[in-house]
Amino acid sequence: MQNFTLHTHNNELRFDGYADAKTMIQKAQDLNFQTIGVSNHVLVNQSFNFSPVDEPMYFNDFNKATSAYLKHIEILENLKQEFKIDIKIGFECDFFTSKDWRNSFEKMIQQLPVDYLIGSNHFLKSQDESFLCNIYHLKKIPNRPNDEDIHLYTINHFKNIIECIKSGYFTFIAHLDYCTIFNLGNDSRYDVYKQEIIEILEKTKTPIEINTSGYDRINRPHPAPWIIEELSKSNLVPILISDDAHRPESIGQHFEEAEKLLKNLNYTNRFNLNMLKKAF
Ligand SMILES: [Zn+2]
Ligand SMILES: [Zn+2]
Repeated sequence: MQNFTLHTHNNELRFDGYADAKTMIQKAQDLNFQTIGVSNHVLVNQSFNFSPVDEPMYFNDFNKATSAYLKHIEILENLKQEFKIDIKIGFECDFFTSKDWRNSFEKMIQQLPVDYLIGSNHFLKSQDESFLCNIYHLKKIPNRPNDEDIHLYTINHFKNIIECIKSGYFTFIAHLDYCTIFNLGNDSRYDVYKQEIIEILEKTKTPIEINTSGYDRINRPHPAPWIIEELSKSNLVPILISDDAHRPESIGQHFEEAEKLLKNLNYTNRFNLNMLKKAF
């Protein structure tokens, strides 16, 4: 069974985990994992308009974000000497497509001494990004868009994933069909975009994760098994299993089921730790 996890969160500084980095790392070490990767959220966009008190994880200023992320890296570097387990440092980065964003993001990641970057997509958006909403926040915003707009924003969400893969910034891509947890993007109108995602993954050989957090939320992993089955036909895309753990008890959770799924599909192209690379 895969004995590492590269997608974990904690509550250091301003991040959204439920335990500190030390507790999370200790848990992975107790499970005899070879490696734990710490991958808190990078959430920076010039048009974010969040209150720093309510949503301290969101930045609209790349310089401020960079300082915070460097501080986080320092905390993790200092923890390395306390543990036997190999600790890797990464970030789960929300990707955006505008030229301005990409320039600033490229500049920022060149300054971050990390082992890897996860490409992630949590937002619904309008074409010009005047509407930009984390899918997780959708239920609590005051003016929820109508169904037709939600449909268009969901298409943009899938298109964003395609651009995220094409960017080449990321070591692997997280939870491809994250939106389905929120009952969005499930019906066949979106299959054409999912098919395009499959094609671009194969073309670029970009690794993806099977995110096991879905087993508890919607009884299946992300992406949906049919997508993994499609990818298994070419076997071109390296796959790793991720728990996306926000609490210690989630580390390694449902890895057996994910292993079984890969075995049943005869999926042999597995991501390994030698494939970690810096994006720049
Ligand atoms: Zn995520
Ligand atoms: Zn995550």
